[in-house]
Amino acid sequence: MAAYDFERLIVDIPDYPEPGVVFKDITPLFADPEGFDAVVESIAARFADAGVTKVIGAEARGFMVGAPVAHRLGAGFVPARKPGKLPRETASESYALEYGTDSLEIHLDAISSDDVVLIVDDLVATGGTAVAQARLVERFGARLAGMGFLMELAFLDPRKAIAEATDAEVFSLV
Ligand code: 5GP
Repeated sequence: MAAYDFERLIVDIPDYPEPGVVFKDITPLFADPEGFDAVVESIAARFADAGVTKVIGAEARGFMVGAPVAHRLGAGFVPARKPGKLPRETASESYALEYGTDSLEIHLDAISSDDVVLIVDDLVATGGTAVAQARLVERFGARLAGMGFLMELAFLDPRKAIAEATDAEVFSLV
């Protein structure tokens, strides 16, 4: 079977959200039933034999990719949210974005030490968001099975930042 052409449905938006940044708009790909299916199936297939029990995805596009991948793998889904959004006690990690800084929080009972966790997001740029999630997983004593992304901005070398934090596998579709 030919590889799915994901890039056909990913639109470059120059100078968004600020001058000099080219934003990758993935919403046309997710609005396309075949494209959406191909994203979820391709990431899930790569980690099908990894024994994943939880998928963690960061607000908000990480939810769009992470939750269906979790369902496909028969795993639970853990939302990593912006500060103050979760109602109960949380663990928090700060991270640097391609544009700005922020923190991510997950509920304290969301992950346990027996979990095998997969980090999923639409796009990895500097790797900051992924590394923050990897640190959260580590704090719970869980095993990180890997990281699955729709897109990787290779020119920002996220694999270097990720490799400094974890030796988990990094897999990107584009
Ligand atoms: P990083 O922390 O790796 O620098 O940035 C990745 C995070 O920022 C992801 O959660 C991703 O959703 C968001 N992000 C950064 N740049 C883009 C972009 O061009 N397009 C999309 N769709 N998301 C982006």
